[in-house]
Amino acid sequence: MGSVKEYFSSLGSGITSLIKGMQVTGKEFITPKITERYPENRDTHKVPGRFRAVLELIYDAEGNHKCIACGICERNCPNGTITLTTKMVDTPDGKKKRKLDRYQYDLGSCTFCQLCVTSCPQNALQFSNDFEQATFTRDKLVKKLNYLPEKEEPAPTPEQLEKMRAEKEAKIAAAKAAMEAKKAAQVAADKNTEASATSSENQ
Ligand code: SF4
Ligand code: SF4
Repeated sequence: MGSVKEYFSSLGSGITSLIKGMQVTGKEFITPKITERYPENRDTHKVPGRFRAVLELIYDAEGNHKCIACGICERNCPNGTITLTTKMVDTPDGKKKRKLDRYQYDLGSCTFCQLCVTSCPQNALQFSNDFEQATFTRDKLVKKLNYLPEKEEPAPTPEQLEKMRAEKEAKIAAAKAAMEAKKAAQVAADKNTEASATSSENQ
């Protein structure tokens, strides 16, 4: 008698379990699908904007970026992923300025920590969400981020040229005056020494 009772009891729990399972399956039939068919859905697939796929320099509509070649991003990168090459150029007002020559980024060693982006004082960097970055060789992952030709410094205006000429002449005049003053001081010192020596001899 006991075994018949156990039989119907386990049959009942089996049917209950089956109904629960069917409920889950039925619900999944009408739930919107999460799995997407890539690359068939390439045209419609939306990657979240915050997804970090690859580092890039931000260019404006005129093709300018804001990098001042300070090297902070390069020093802050824990993996040596960024390599900057810079050069010194003359500015229109006659001064020297460091300028970006090549901004090299190795996607293959980037850990997407974003330290470079957050430490840049110019907000010159951002991460693109363009996730299709697969290549056949690692060297293809090394990218030049300043891919547009670097703009030349503008030529100095006539006023700037005149100002630079005047400053140069003033510097030369100041140097000459300093030299003359030094010579005069030396002559005076020599005379004093000579007078002291004569006075000692006479005593
Ligand atoms: S990207 Fe920013 S931090 Fe890096 S060198 Fe340029 S200005 Fe400096
Ligand atoms: S995200 Fe991190 S690892 Fe990648 S380049 Fe920037 S600082 Fe280096």
